Amino acid sequence: MDKIIIENLEFIGTHGVFQEEKNLGQKFLVSVEMTTSTREAGKTGDLTKSTHYGFVADDIEKIFLGNSFDLIETCAEEIATMILRKYPLISEVKVCIKKPWAPIKKHFDFVAVEITRKWHKAYISLGSNMGDKKENLLKAIENIKNLPDTFVTKQSTILETEPYGYTNQDMFLNGCIEIKTLFTPQELIQKLLEIETIMGRKRVIKWGPRIIDLDIILFDDEIINEENLTVPHPYMCDRLFVLEPLFEIAPYIIHPIKRISIMEIKNILEKSSNS
Ligand code: AMP
Repeated sequence: MDKIIIENLEFIGTHGVFQEEKNLGQKFLVSVEMTTSTREAGKTGDLTKSTHYGFVADDIEKIFLGNSFDLIETCAEEIATMILRKYPLISEVKVCIKKPWAPIKKHFDFVAVEITRKWHKAYISLGSNMGDKKENLLKAIENIKNLPDTFVTKQSTILETEPYGYTNQDMFLNGCIEIKTLFTPQELIQKLLEIETIMGRKRVIKWGPRIIDLDIILFDDEIINEENLTVPHPYMCDRLFVLEPLFEIAPYIIHPIKRISIMEIKNILEKSSNS
């Protein structure tokens, strides 16, 4: 991908944990590397098809001089978030803040913090088999839409499916959405669990009746194996109620472990359940 770079914007800022740093101010150098496609602007000469680095520099200055953060980590985070929120053509940004006069009694060129942030694409599977099931799914989607820095970019139809595991329970309604988000996978799962709790989900029987179930099926092409989070979702390939709505909105996405498409995974499962 192409990049637009601003290197070493110089400011006298008042960021730092020590009071002296806030009183006196010191020199900082801010660099950003913005991932985007410059192809169309390059071919047409039309600046509206690109990102104006002058405006970005002004916006960085507003954050930099309008605040006095204890940590340059916070400052870098604010700058990265602002750029991704405000400049829609930027998909990823690297922000580096150098502090050449940091209060360390040693010889050094600078200390720095460098972070990379980007818009993530994730697929969330939704299920409900208690109460007004359709209303529950729509309410969960509304709650996800209301999360900060999160957009629902695709939505499958809602399907009625047989219960899985514990079968002595009502039919399910299932669906799947694609989202664009700045949350990390861990932040996202916490938000989804909060939505489940707010909506009245109680965990009584494993695979038992539920007002709402929200699972992260895929998160970019990440493979995550943590105590509370497994992505791709470990059972996604065995469950048609996950694959069917996912196939509707993402047939060609490649499963990062199996290295085959959702369409192929669904075909394999359908064949094996028919045989
Ligand atoms: P359940 O609601 O039955 O799907 O289980 C939710 C629990 O599974 C939560 O404690 C999550 O932390 C954990 N979990 C692990 N991986 C995932 C995932 N990919 N999506 C949703 N929950 C997950």
